[in-house]
Amino acid sequence: MIQQAESQSTDARNVGKRRRVLIVGGVAGGASCAARLRRLDESVEILMFDRGPYVSFANCGLPYYVGNVISDESRLLVASREMFHERFNIEVQTETEVTSIDRSACTITARDLRTGNTRTERYDVLVLSPGAAPIRPQLPGVDLPGVFAVRTIPDSRRIRSWIAERSAKTAVVVGGGFIGLEMVENLIHRELAVAVLEKLPQLMPPLDSEMAVPLMEHLAEKGVQLHLGDGLARIEEHAGGGLTVVAESGARLPADLVILAIGVRPETMLAKDAGLEIGPRGGVVVDAQMRTSDPNIWAVGDVVEVQDVLTGQETVLPLAGPANRQGRVAAESIAGRATHFRGVQATAVVGVLGLTVASTGASEKGLRRAGITSFQKIYLHPGNHAGYYPGARQIHLKLVFSVPDGRILGAQAVGFEGVEKRIDVIATAIQFNGTVHDLAEAELCYAPQFGAAKDPVNLAGMLAENVLNGDMPVADWLELDRTDALLLDVREPEEFARGHMPKAINLSLSQLRSRYVELPKDREIWACCAVGQRAYFATRFLTQHGYRSRNLSGGYTTYSALKSAGLTP
Ligand code: FAD
Repeated sequence: MIQQAESQSTDARNVGKRRRVLIVGGVAGGASCAARLRRLDESVEILMFDRGPYVSFANCGLPYYVGNVISDESRLLVASREMFHERFNIEVQTETEVTSIDRSACTITARDLRTGNTRTERYDVLVLSPGAAPIRPQLPGVDLPGVFAVRTIPDSRRIRSWIAERSAKTAVVVGGGFIGLEMVENLIHRELAVAVLEKLPQLMPPLDSEMAVPLMEHLAEKGVQLHLGDGLARIEEHAGGGLTVVAESGARLPADLVILAIGVRPETMLAKDAGLEIGPRGGVVVDAQMRTSDPNIWAVGDVVEVQDVLTGQETVLPLAGPANRQGRVAAESIAGRATHFRGVQATAVVGVLGLTVASTGASEKGLRRAGITSFQKIYLHPGNHAGYYPGARQIHLKLVFSVPDGRILGAQAVGFEGVEKRIDVIATAIQFNGTVHDLAEAELCYAPQFGAAKDPVNLAGMLAENVLNGDMPVADWLELDRTDALLLDVREPEEFARGHMPKAINLSLSQLRSRYVELPKDREIWACCAVGQRAYFATRFLTQHGYRSRNLSGGYTTYSALKSAGLTP
């Protein structure tokens, strides 16, 4: 965020003229800003430019258009040029690229992409919302026909035609983040065999790696070939027309088409050329009112850097919700209101072949990267609704909270039903500076088919409270390989026989009361069960009988995920 310098008001220079607001980019941030500004101020002139053929289209719907889930392209058009004109008196210039900004003259140069003609337009206020461009690595073959990125309606149209015209059967998606995974789902809908090549050893890089394990297992079960921990080296074309993706390891993945989804980069060219301040994360620097280092220029959406409210660090977060809200804040600021953007906490969700993955706030690895260590974490695996009601499915939930004050720092969840609902509740609690006590106390909807009298959100809060008040000290899974604590598995012998931690001994909860004296008193005991509940009961029992005991939160289910992620022995 920048400290805003005193504005040399262009209003003052243009006394008597109608205030002129130009907006570059007419989709999420730009269109929100334009429409909000009109609602606040009928007197300004608003012109919005987009180099593409459409404004206000649903970029988030593009993967589903490729997958034919949305089959009618016009459904992607949220608002048209005509609608902006008729309803809001906003002039929209499509297929018009803004190529430069002259800050001293307060003008932009715009080129009509149909005719090649350029012209200069004066502004009093300029808003930049050019978004972010898919990263295209400088590697051999990335520009071959059949290699696509997904950003615009024409991009998705080209992918659809390619699949149809060539009867495509196989695809490689490079990149296992949000857009990559949505493309996986939709290519599978189109009955293609799909492989994913991802440089990191996990899918969904924002998640802590153990939380991505259920997702990886799910995709593998659905027949998606996962090539993790392996980057793209090049793409080759065959004489017959097919492509081969060659990985850094040398692995060769044949494909009829390739989707590049390795991330996006803020489109800062215009801003940079105009000398606007660019931040360390590569986005345009703005203040809390979305004003750039030039007092007459605002910037919103994927192009800006904003503050992560949990770590306090600057970040770029290319998501539609923040872009829309920033557009609104910018409009209010332009209209003279002192509205502030509060920053972001990275609340996000993706659905892949029936599985939902959602997160909000800081991840454990994000906190560690930011040098924050005063936190604790708990894992739980409750059903999405009461177990006695048919069809309950597990939600894998991780909650990270600050110690000792219990402020909620972040949560991640994976499961089939009710995942995003829990994350949204926790996201809201974070927004209100909530603590784990607030989660324990949260009064949420309950009927058997929707939840439980103790909702997973309540349970997460209660578990975390137990950690904070010492009722359930937790052991750190990541210290498993160096602890000399006794690892006590309190599941039943047949469960233990199906798989257990190395060096663990088995004494089931049902036998603990009669046999606990067999346990050594001079060693700390780390208790484990299937999901953490029986181990909690054991910890409470042992503590009250003079033992030093901790719970391995989330139990063997969490252990298995951590092991698959390479984090435990
Ligand atoms: P955009 O919406 O990208 O709009 C920028 C516009 O500016 C573009 O139309 C571009 O053509 C135009 N432009 C750029 N430079 C110029 C110029 N010099 N002159 C004229 N016009 C210019 N987010 C979510 O939260 N949830 C999702 O499920 C989700 N799914 C997504 C799926 C896909 C395939 C994609 C691509 C994005 C998805 N996003 C999702 C991200 C979300 O769409 C973006 O965060 C959001 O659109 C950003 O808004 P913006 O206004 O910054 O940029």
